[in-house]
Amino acid sequence: MMRGAALRTSLRIAGIYALMSVTWIMLSDRLVESIAPTAVALAWLQSVKGLAFVLLTAVVIGLLVYRQAARAEAARERLREREAYFRNLFESAPTAYQSLDADGRILDVNPAWCDLLGHEREAVMGQPLSRFVVADQRSELAERFPEFLATGAMDDPELQLRHRDGHPVTVSVDGRLQRDAAGRVVRTHCVLHDITRRKQMEDQLRDQGERLFLALEGARLGTFDWDLRTGEIVWDRRHAELFGVRLEEFDGTYAGFLRRIHPDDRSLVEARIEIARAGRSLFQAEFRVRGADGGWRWIAGTGRFMSDAGTGEPIRMGGVAQDISERKNLEAQLLQAQKMEAVGQLAGGVAHDFNNLLQVINGYAEMALEGLDAHHPAHASVGEVVGAGTRAARLVAQLLAFSRRQVIVPEDLDLDEVVGRALDLVRRSLGEHIRVQWSPQHRLGNVRADRGQMEQVLMNLCLNARDAMPGGGDLVLRTENVVFDAEYRRHHAWARPGRYVGLSVTDTGTGMPPEVLERIWEPFFTTKEPDKGTGLGLSTVYGIIRQHEGLVHVDSEPGRGTTLAVYLPQVERSAAAVAAPVQTTAHGGEETILVVEDNDSVRDLMRTVLERAGYRVLAASGGREALDLLEVHGEQVDLAILDVVMPDLGGREVHDRARDRWPDLRFLFASGYSLDGVHTDFVLAEEFALIQKPFAAADLLAAVRGQLDGVGEA
Ligand code: ADP
Ligand code: MG
Repeated sequence: MMRGAALRTSLRIAGIYALMSVTWIMLSDRLVESIAPTAVALAWLQSVKGLAFVLLTAVVIGLLVYRQAARAEAARERLREREAYFRNLFESAPTAYQSLDADGRILDVNPAWCDLLGHEREAVMGQPLSRFVVADQRSELAERFPEFLATGAMDDPELQLRHRDGHPVTVSVDGRLQRDAAGRVVRTHCVLHDITRRKQMEDQLRDQGERLFLALEGARLGTFDWDLRTGEIVWDRRHAELFGVRLEEFDGTYAGFLRRIHPDDRSLVEARIEIARAGRSLFQAEFRVRGADGGWRWIAGTGRFMSDAGTGEPIRMGGVAQDISERKNLEAQLLQAQKMEAVGQLAGGVAHDFNNLLQVINGYAEMALEGLDAHHPAHASVGEVVGAGTRAARLVAQLLAFSRRQVIVPEDLDLDEVVGRALDLVRRSLGEHIRVQWSPQHRLGNVRADRGQMEQVLMNLCLNARDAMPGGGDLVLRTENVVFDAEYRRHHAWARPGRYVGLSVTDTGTGMPPEVLERIWEPFFTTKEPDKGTGLGLSTVYGIIRQHEGLVHVDSEPGRGTTLAVYLPQVERSAAAVAAPVQTTAHGGEETILVVEDNDSVRDLMRTVLERAGYRVLAASGGREALDLLEVHGEQVDLAILDVVMPDLGGREVHDRARDRWPDLRFLFASGYSLDGVHTDFVLAEEFALIQKPFAAADLLAAVRGQLDGVGEA
């Protein structure tokens, strides 16, 4: 192009020159010939004409060349201006620009590019762009660049470059291709937009979103949103789950929300919502909703009204809800446990005093009866006293069991074996109208428990079942090995984790309404007529099971029967072979017996009973006095009867100190109970013989004889 124009200009100049010259020569030669008078003049004129031609052509050519040169200069000047203009644009543009060759090497970058990446322009020229891309995007670039060259377009315009100081710079690339006449790519032109901050904010937002999601998930929170203008309530999936419905089942209305709340809690929820709406304050309420299983679940809802920025009117609800049934359950259990503890303290205190009084009353009444001839007028009355005293003693024993102040004699027990032995008695106590079903479990684990107390638990549960089925029915006895793991606890907050053996009694009787269910473990709570129920059956069960570190559970609905279950911790050992209980007849002897008992009346009674049976008796009112007596009479004493708990030195301590000094001395423990918490759960090791207070004279004599004769030492 350029060459063509230059040639045309040159040809034009040459043409003009040739035309002018030919015209000059033709015209001037004629003119000179016509005006030259002489040959000399002609020759002279010819020379002048030649000179004039040279001058003229010089002027014309000079003019032409000058004009051309001036034009060219002007064009160059314009070009320079344009270039300066574009260069300026290029250099001061706020947007980073880069130009690459087809190999991806940098042909040019602008200062904004250099600022963006912290490099000098000279240092990057000719370098491959990949040098400035973060390492893990290089292979990606190697794939994407040829694609760009081929199509002129980029699928994903994002690229991560690295600033000279190391920090990553995220850019969005916008590029064009420049091709030559043959269509080959000569260079690319790209502008880079710095989107690092936008990316960071996006990342932060995503992060926050993720954290919020985790928080909601972790706390098992459901979210809700209430648009007051449209009245529509939107729940998320979990919120619907909390309300016991599938998301599609919720109609999105306030009425629909209220309908799922326990009727007793609705007004509370509504009031709280109104207060929050009026005061633009936080809404908080704990209320019950129907769970998916049909039962009531406790929900804690928290929310806030959001106001219109202009009018200040509340326009939206938003908040979270959480299932707090487990907490509520635990709270209720704690309350119940505290109540039982307090009642236990009270009952135990009363029983303690009564026990000693009964011991004395019953003991002397028995003695009086023995001394009376059957025809004596007072014989029948004293007999009544003995009978009533015995019944009173049983009540007191139950109270002591409830308040966990009985000493238990644990052994490794197979509950199937216990149930099996007691089954006959159970059947007889229930009567013909009740069918008893029981089949022993294969491989039932052992528990460490007091046999007598387990029988009492079984009996109490069966008698309650009988009372609940006056018209007859079915009673199912069940034993099972159970493991309460974390998953089980999610649905049964009362269960402590571990392996247990369960014993349950299910009846098809009346069942219980919630207000009865709440109180059944309380001592003296009964729904029965005064002469039918004492209200001590289940409280005794509760006390016994708690003393064995077990758990109780009840499942009952009016009209649908009841299941009462107790769970005792499993032990790994096998049950000891159970020997038949030894029956000893009560007869006296002549040995020497040391009675150690801190209660004066009880001690005197024991002394009287034993002396009447022929024994020689030494009595001490405490552990220290007992040891002092043994120092003097140790060799003669055959048997020491030790109260388990005494203020100065307990029976066990006396035993421990005396055992080695007097190896022939035998021991019999008398329990009690204790008002002192340290001894509440005192458990005697199996090798000790034990007699439970209050005891009848015959029991005492039998136990004493048994020890002296070596029975019960096995
Ligand atoms: P009592 O049997 O002397 O009334 P309990 O402590 O054994 O005392 O029981 C307390 C109350 O619990 C009973 O009066 C009765 O209302 C209720 N109850 C216990 N067991 C059952 C059962 N299997 N079915 C229905 N109600 C029961
Ligand atoms: Mg009962």
